[in-house]
Amino acid sequence: MSKAFDWCLQGIENLPATSPLTIKRFKSVGVETFWDLLNYAPLRYSDFSLSSSINNLEVGKKASVVGEIINLSQERTRRGFTIQKVVITDGTDNLVLVWFNQSYLLRTFRSGQKISVSGEVKGQLFDRSMVVEEYELLDDKKYLSFRSGDSVDFVHTHKIIPYYSEKKGLSSRVIREKVFYLLSKLDSSLESLPSSIIKKNKLIPLHQAFVNIHYPENFDYYKLARDRLAFDEIFVLNLAGEIYRKEWQEEKKPYKFLATTEIKEKLSEFIDALPFELTPSQRKAVTTIISDMQKDTAMNRFLQGDVGSGKTVVAVIASYFAYLNGYQSLIMAPTEVLAVQHYKSFKQFLDKFSVKIALQTGSIKTVKDYKISISDYDIVIGTHALFNEKLKYEKVGLVVIDEQQRFGVMQRSLLRSKGINPHLLTMTATPIPRTVTLVLFGELNISVLQKPPAGRKPVKTYFVPLDKRQSAYEWIKKRLDAGEQVFIVCPLIEESDHETLKNVRSALAEYEKIKSIFSKYRVGVLHGRMKSKEKQQILTDFKNHNFDILVSTPVIEVGIDIPNATVIVIEGAERYGLAQLHQLRGRVGRSDKQSYCLIFTESRSADVVSRLKYFAKENDGFKLSEYDLRRRGPGEVFGTRQSGFLNVKFASLLDSDLIEKVSVAVRYFVNNYNLNDYEILKKLVSYYDFKLISRD
Ligand code: ADP
Ligand code: MG
Repeated sequence: MSKAFDWCLQGIENLPATSPLTIKRFKSVGVETFWDLLNYAPLRYSDFSLSSSINNLEVGKKASVVGEIINLSQERTRRGFTIQKVVITDGTDNLVLVWFNQSYLLRTFRSGQKISVSGEVKGQLFDRSMVVEEYELLDDKKYLSFRSGDSVDFVHTHKIIPYYSEKKGLSSRVIREKVFYLLSKLDSSLESLPSSIIKKNKLIPLHQAFVNIHYPENFDYYKLARDRLAFDEIFVLNLAGEIYRKEWQEEKKPYKFLATTEIKEKLSEFIDALPFELTPSQRKAVTTIISDMQKDTAMNRFLQGDVGSGKTVVAVIASYFAYLNGYQSLIMAPTEVLAVQHYKSFKQFLDKFSVKIALQTGSIKTVKDYKISISDYDIVIGTHALFNEKLKYEKVGLVVIDEQQRFGVMQRSLLRSKGINPHLLTMTATPIPRTVTLVLFGELNISVLQKPPAGRKPVKTYFVPLDKRQSAYEWIKKRLDAGEQVFIVCPLIEESDHETLKNVRSALAEYEKIKSIFSKYRVGVLHGRMKSKEKQQILTDFKNHNFDILVSTPVIEVGIDIPNATVIVIEGAERYGLAQLHQLRGRVGRSDKQSYCLIFTESRSADVVSRLKYFAKENDGFKLSEYDLRRRGPGEVFGTRQSGFLNVKFASLLDSDLIEKVSVAVRYFVNNYNLNDYEILKKLVSYYDFKLISRD
């Protein structure tokens, strides 16, 4: 380890003259090391760089002055506020410094002390005062240097001063002091990237970037610092992805897949026998996948397509291709309900081609002993239970992971521990912006299903104002009378991977309410705490139109295919990310009938209203998730908040120029340098180990 970086990795408790409470507070905001603190981005800055003598101060401007305290007093206003007044002089004139409600300052200051202050100058030409925003006391040495015109390293005044997010009782003042200390000790040779990349991309040195992100010399430097740190952030993410892809390819070679003339004919027969024609983008995805699977390296393809765009059939064809080559496929769904649905549709497509399919979830097990031999089953569909340690597969050639809500790139270690290195197809309806998938998967490994199958009408979405609830219910009755069905999604009370009791209670309450409003109709309820069999029964009943309205918690949100349901009501819509709302909306619009999405909120916040109105008029999932990404950040949008993954501080994940530039640099790095020689990168990349982000 180089000394410079070694020093940065020290625990935050090694900060000198810092109370245990402050240390604890730093840790609670995720600052564990010096390095973390250096990367703690300021939220904003105040420009106090205008240094002036008292007689030259201009009213209305922000400035900094240095003087000696000559008088201290306090006044009380009629409303019970206090005003602290401190008079200073610098030999050119006197100045009254003003603070509000900070009596303790009068115990801190004494006459004769030297002080540097920054703030806005108020009052008239001959009666000026300064409302102080920042101050620092100066020792004699600093004061004398200032007096004799030498440069003085101020912490809180006389500069462009940083302000930080003040969480958990940490003040900007404290953070600034600690950052200032680190910057004063930071070795200027600290660097993460090879000089060729720095030069090529016109980046400033890392040390300079840290200095200027906290104390920018001017706006240009601030921008350069930000550009540098943003570059590093994306570089590390992208490098982690690149290394992951490389490792993926270097692992044990997958089985050899062939597309012989005979196999090609069988594939075509299968595709011709489908009850519909593949869309052009489905066709393209299929071609790419079939070609991927014939390569010497394992496929790691990401198939992205809006809800209802027809991803399942693509997975079916890929598994059929594996079957024709004599290999097993595993299809993993996020919930049992979806696993069962997949099981049914796979069977429907593949039964007549004598492909044998098993279903394996926590509670349903086609295979009782843990051996899944190829002579018994060609395809196994299930939940996480598929990766149960006890299960032994014989010849897994393909793994499909469906509706990965978060960024599980893969339970790679799990597969590895099973000694298999299959082709991998990850499918999602989450509209992840291209820039993000580019960082994670690389250009060549992404397939997108652009357009939904023909004949689908976009879902009409209405943001329903509070006073229109009754008329909305009346309108819903008309749809029901026309023989259509309705989903009602209750508000998300508690966010969790598992169904919480609070969510269940709110669904049951809503169920009672809906039953009384829609007393002439049949209403069902569904929540995640029900037994799987029960859930399954309710969904089957709903699909068979044994009842008209299904009230459910938000947990059961993706992938369910009930074509006769044409209306979805979403309560408490403000609680969802737009991408999530879009997925909920995708539960309807699965037939050629016109479908509707009605969104309700009790919130009157202008922000919420404009966000939901945007949702109502936008049907493009990518645009929706970009909107949220811009306003709420990636952690919120992709549910990666806890892991910290993708929570970039300096970069924007929508900055396609930066992302393209970085991906060129990363490829250059990988081809020309050894990561072991770049300890900062190595350390940061290891932090982004993709295992961190898989769901379990
Ligand atoms: P998702 O991408 O959300 O997983 P599905 O695979 O469940 O979507 O497909 C939704 C519905 O569209 C299914 O009923 C499926 O059979 C049907 N479908 C898929 N592809 C086509 C197509 N090319 N033309 C018509 N219908 C299709
Ligand atoms: Mg699906």
